[in-house]
Amino acid sequence: MGSVGAKEVPVLLSPEGLRIDGRKLDELRPLRIQAGALHQADGSAFVEWGANKVMAAVYGPREVHPRHLQQNDKAVIQCRYNMAAFSVDERKRPGIDRRSQEISKVIGEAFESVVFAEEFPRTSIDIYIEVLQANAGTRCAGLVAASVALADAGIPMVDLLPAVAVGKVGGAIALDLKKEEDNYGEADLPMALVPQSGRLVLLQMEGHMSEDELARALDLGVKGCRDIYETMKQALRERYAIEPAHGESA
Ligand code: ADP
Repeated sequence: MGSVGAKEVPVLLSPEGLRIDGRKLDELRPLRIQAGALHQADGSAFVEWGANKVMAAVYGPREVHPRHLQQNDKAVIQCRYNMAAFSVDERKRPGIDRRSQEISKVIGEAFESVVFAEEFPRTSIDIYIEVLQANAGTRCAGLVAASVALADAGIPMVDLLPAVAVGKVGGAIALDLKKEEDNYGEADLPMALVPQSGRLVLLQMEGHMSEDELARALDLGVKGCRDIYETMKQALRERYAIEPAHGESA
C-alpha cells in the first residue's frame, strides 16, 4: 500500500510494469463464456470474467410491454441491466438506480446499431443482464453476455459486440481494469466494437488522459475486443458444436 495524503491507495503498477494481480498492461483477465446457460429464455449466456459473474437472458421477438412502446416499422430493443444486492462487498441497495438505468440505456442503444430490428416490426426484443458478482467492467461483461445470448436466441445481427474497459493506472495505459484499478486509477474507458466494420458503438470515459494516451487506449481496447470476439464465437461453436471454418482461428 502506498499513501496519498491520509488515504491509503494500493500500488497499481510494480517497477517491472506488472499490475496488482500480476497481469501485463495488455493482458485480459481470464474470460469464460457459456452460451445457452438458461433453459427458460429464448437465448442466454453466462460470463465469468476475472471476478465478474454475469448472466444474460434474451426473450423475443415477442409482444411489446408496455404496449405504447410498440413501433410499426421495427422491433424495440429493451435492455435491463441489474446488479444483485449481493454482487459487491458491501450490500448494494436492491433495485434500479440511476447508474443501472444509464447502463441499460447505453447497452440497449449499442445493440440497436447491430440488430436487424426492422425484420420484426411491432415486437420487442428483451435483454436482461444480471450481475451476480461485480469487479469492474460489468457493463462490458454484460454486453458480451447479452451479445452471445442474442445470437443464441437466433436474433439476426450485423455482428457480435465484444466490449472491454481500457484505462490509465499508475501512469500507464492498461487493458481490462479490475476493481482497484477502476477505483484508484486515473481513467476508465469502456468501449464496444463491431469487429467486422471496426466501428465503436459504445464509448464512455471517466477520469482524464491526454490525446496521445486516448489514441493508445483505443488501439489497445480494439485489440482486446478482437480477442474477446474469438472467445464469444468459440462459446457459440461449443453450444452448437460447429467446427471452426478452415483457416479460421478457434
Ligand atoms: P463497470 O462495472 O461497468 O465498471 P462502474 O465503473 O460504474 O461500472 O463500476 C465499477 C465497479 O464498482 C463495479 O463493477 C462494481 O464492482 C463497483 N460498484 C458499482 N456500483 C456499486 C455500488 N452501488 N455498490 C458497490 N460497488 C459498486
